[in-house]
Amino acid sequence: MNNAELKLKLEEELDVVMQELADLGHEDIDPTATELDELADRQEASEESAGETSALSIRKREITAALARMADGTYGMCEECGDKIEEDRLEANPAARTCKLHME
Ligand SMILES: [Zn+2]
Repeated sequence: MNNAELKLKLEEELDVVMQELADLGHEDIDPTATELDELADRQEASEESAGETSALSIRKREITAALARMADGTYGMCEECGDKIEEDRLEANPAARTCKLHME
């Protein structure tokens, strides 16, 4: 899998994550939703999904960071040792920041 394909994968995943965040009411809240009941419902829903929302936010940050590294040419290098990240690791997680030896 080359970088262009990995980039496509990242962009597709970013779309999914953004959509899920929007569905959870985390972002792009409909500005026309002024009914108090509706707002209360949204608040309740967002408390219930707070864990899910933060996991998605973290994932979104990882993906945007990976896309930024692609833009500046540092994509695919381990942040710990500077070596190339294994191809199968990038295929499993295109947003990976470290090689297998240094993965958390
Ligand atoms: Zn490493």
